[in-house]
Amino acid sequence: MTDTAGSAHASTLAGTGAASASAAATLESATAALNAWLEVDLGRLDQNLAALRAALDPGVDVIAVVKANAYGAGVAGIAPALERAGVDRFATVWVPEAVALRRLGVRKPILVLGHAFPAEAVAAITHDITLTVHSLDLGRALSEAATARGRVANVHIHIDSGLHRDGVSLGEGVALAEALRQLPGIRVEGLSTHMANADEPDDSFSTTQGDVFAEAAKRLPWVPYRHTANSATALRRQELRYEGVRIGLAMHGIVPPNTPGPGVQPILSLKARVARVVDVAVGEGVSYGLTWRATRQSRVALVPVGYADGWPRHLSNAGEVLIGGRRCPMVGRVCMDQFLADVTDVPGVREGDEIVLLGEQGDERISADQVAEHAGTISWDILASLQARLPRIFHRGGAVELVV
Ligand SMILES: *Cc1c(COP(=O)(O)O)cnc(C)c1O
Repeated sequence: MTDTAGSAHASTLAGTGAASASAAATLESATAALNAWLEVDLGRLDQNLAALRAALDPGVDVIAVVKANAYGAGVAGIAPALERAGVDRFATVWVPEAVALRRLGVRKPILVLGHAFPAEAVAAITHDITLTVHSLDLGRALSEAATARGRVANVHIHIDSGLHRDGVSLGEGVALAEALRQLPGIRVEGLSTHMANADEPDDSFSTTQGDVFAEAAKRLPWVPYRHTANSATALRRQELRYEGVRIGLAMHGIVPPNTPGPGVQPILSLKARVARVVDVAVGEGVSYGLTWRATRQSRVALVPVGYADGWPRHLSNAGEVLIGGRRCPMVGRVCMDQFLADVTDVPGVREGDEIVLLGEQGDERISADQVAEHAGTISWDILASLQARLPRIFHRGGAVELVV
């Protein structure tokens, strides 16, 4: 049963991982009474995964990175769809994100990339979650939790090869792997690293980091599963793909800078409906601080999306939206829940008309990269900032499968 019109986002099938075409739910009917929403195209998600597989070598695992609510797209819809589409593994950054995946019904291996506490060992064992282990303390806690339950804990070790963010140094990593290997109930399955300049114009530092990683792999030849690549590295550096690649952004149909595109398409659209149209006389201003003033007799449309939804305040007087198939400048400051767009040049705009903030309308398109550029940030930030208040409508070819 889908209560797609509810403002408390009805979740049709949350937790089951199953999809069904609920009676007569089209995008139109599901969004008719919504101020703002996200549309996620699961058909395109499948196509993106297929395009990525075609661009990679056969046999290289796709590890779907679904941290941060699947980059804002909504993990409750994305993760079950990716599992059905046949990704090999999942990755999150924190243990609670991984537990949430299991609660959504995900069965494939789940790797936690980020820091975990020894106190999280029991949860990891209970939910069959693979941790990235940075200390013997964490390894011992996992060993205890695993042996007490008659299980074996797979663990990965992350080598800090030059990013100087997480992980352990080459020497520490080799020693840690050998020590963990001695612990009952522990299987050192994986070795990983992460690139600092993956999508920079000059990614030659990936070669330096790749050499450090190769040395670690050489000293630990018994560790079977190696992974170093995010979307950009996977697509730019064949020699760094190893057994699996950790794909986030490219799955969403966005190609990182300086990276050859494998023919993916954006899966996510952010849309809203005009809440009000108001005339503004020459010299009058709009929104807090009256930072934009009309230089001609103007009409502005009220867009019911704000920085509390994750639409950056940095877009004040800088961004664009699509209304009536035309690009309309955002005018005045972005408020917590709404902002204004200049529709003076779009005839006949009325309450309820569709606004596209991200995605396509008519022949026009606004990409996450364009929004990011206007806001002075990166596309990852635009996606991951999208808040839970926005209903997420998962569909295939316009047929709604799930509303979260
Ligand atoms: C987020 C993340 C990824 C995925 O990066 P994309 O550029 O989105 O593909 C891969 N590896 C690690 C360690 C990450 O934190």
